[in-house]
Amino acid sequence: MSNTPDHIKPEDLVWKCFRCDKPLVVDAILAVYLGNNITTQLPQCPSCHNVLVSEELAVGKIAEVEKLLENK
Ligand SMILES: [Zn+2]
Repeated sequence: MSNTPDHIKPEDLVWKCFRCDKPLVVDAILAVYLGNNITTQLPQCPSCHNVLVSEELAVGKIAEVEKLLENK
């Protein structure tokens, strides 16, 4: 069983922080996109809070956010 959001794939969480060598955790991140504050769930380091995303995940997140903004 997993309680991670659908858009977070298991392979996104096998990464480790290159600085701390700690496995990533999924947590809420406040991002600013096109002047909008957006809270989203992304893998990050539990120690230094460095957010590590694959290009594929980042592109998917932007598409998701654009959809949210269009629906406003
Ligand atoms: Zn770290």
